[in-house]
Amino acid sequence: MGITLNVEQFLKDLEYLVNIDSQSKDPEGVAKVAAFFEKAFGDIGWTVERVEFDPTAGPSLKITNGEPPYDALLLGHMDTVFPKGTVAERPFSRDEKRAYGPGVNDMKSGLLFGLYAARALTAKGSKGSFCIAYNSEEEIGSRRARPWIEQLAQESRTSVVLEPARPNGNLMNARKGLGRIEVTFNGRAAHAGVEPEKGISAVNEMAYWIVALHGLTDFEKGTTLNAGIVAGGTGANVVPEKATMTVDVRVKIPNEVERIAEKILQLKAHPATPGISVDADFILTRPPMNPGEKTPKLCALVEEAGKEAGVEFGWQSTGGGSDGNFTAALGVPTVDGLGAMGGGSHSIGEYIEIDALPSRFAMLLGLLERIPGTMF
Ligand SMILES: [Zn+2]
Repeated sequence: MGITLNVEQFLKDLEYLVNIDSQSKDPEGVAKVAAFFEKAFGDIGWTVERVEFDPTAGPSLKITNGEPPYDALLLGHMDTVFPKGTVAERPFSRDEKRAYGPGVNDMKSGLLFGLYAARALTAKGSKGSFCIAYNSEEEIGSRRARPWIEQLAQESRTSVVLEPARPNGNLMNARKGLGRIEVTFNGRAAHAGVEPEKGISAVNEMAYWIVALHGLTDFEKGTTLNAGIVAGGTGANVVPEKATMTVDVRVKIPNEVERIAEKILQLKAHPATPGISVDADFILTRPPMNPGEKTPKLCALVEEAGKEAGVEFGWQSTGGGSDGNFTAALGVPTVDGLGAMGGGSHSIGEYIEIDALPSRFAMLLGLLERIPGTMF
């Protein structure tokens, strides 16, 4: 112990970062956030490497203080869900208890936790080889970042995700896997009154698919499907030629993915609407994050560090995904929620609890000091 968080300095840095619009597809905004961390980590002697997957995403950062195998891979993301102009509308603000602003909880405070922890570890001369990966496109599914994160996970003994804790302070060692089904139905238009028999209704077939896919939902298994966006048709008196839909898929059990994929093949092979043609694309963007064999050991270290820091919390799972889904699916023990404590992510009411910052930070630091001496 000995290093406590300088809350005022932390909030000043946080204000700077929150006041940069950095939506996932705003490469300049993300680059500004990245530049802050490049400089700050460089100043304490850590090696910073810019990683560019795609010019539309902005740079990601790989930050290290040693060689692989890394004791821990710390994960964060610099992008937010808020479009350019959000900061001008509602910049960083604070009152006695809370700080507010776009990305304050998800997760610019977590990124700063990583920096402040690295500083503290360096100042104390703590042992351990760490890799910090700050992604530029987490909020749009990390499709391009995924192989990079998986590579780093394979070089790491543990993974610590700096996403925020739940509003009640709980941490996560399980998250559902998530995917998307995009379907396009191609039929044939016809006058609905004059010659309806010549039409092939894309909407009719879509309706059939919606019922069938929703029917796969199994709350006990943690499987849910939701046709969240549907569109089709051009007029009430026209047999609709085209329809499209996007279905959100969440799974807790990995092989549920196969059950869903099989159903899609079956639906394609046996249409309810003669003559229809269907294109369906199912991608699992994040595999489920479930505790593995070595996860309890890592959770025990978090609990020890939490006790020392005076943090009370429990473990819970969530239906939302993070980059921790990738590391956990590879069997790397993963804990998530070690950033700040707050709520309202992706909404106008996003906040963090100021009072909780010092103890949450102390818990993270205590964890990072314990991992290097523990066998995984
Ligand atoms: Zn996040």
